[in-house]
Amino acid sequence: MTRHPFEVLEDGTRIYSNGRVYTPKTGRVYARRKPPDEAVEGFVRFAGVWLPPLPLLPGEGRSWPETRPDTDAYHHMTKPRKCRCYVCLRPESQRWKDLWRKGLPLRF
Ligand SMILES: [Zn+2]
Repeated sequence: MTRHPFEVLEDGTRIYSNGRVYTPKTGRVYARRKPPDEAVEGFVRFAGVWLPPLPLLPGEGRSWPETRPDTDAYHHMTKPRKCRCYVCLRPESQRWKDLWRKGLPLRF
């Protein structure tokens, strides 16, 4: 492919050496591959749309729910000493400790 040299007039019109005239259209955006505000980090591009970062707290500032189940107390009953962990100190774990004392298997 050969490119013809061209001269640019004051209004942006290009006149190529082969006689072709091209006037670029103003205000046209062909593709937006950069986020609208490059100073802000965290922009996510999804389906061609730039989404702004969500106003979330950092990981240290968030509180997470307790995810350790009460049945952990059943297994901690086999420890040689009385377990003082957070799960075993919860009142809800008493049901599972009693189950172990009665010699019953762990069932849900
Ligand atoms: Zn424990």
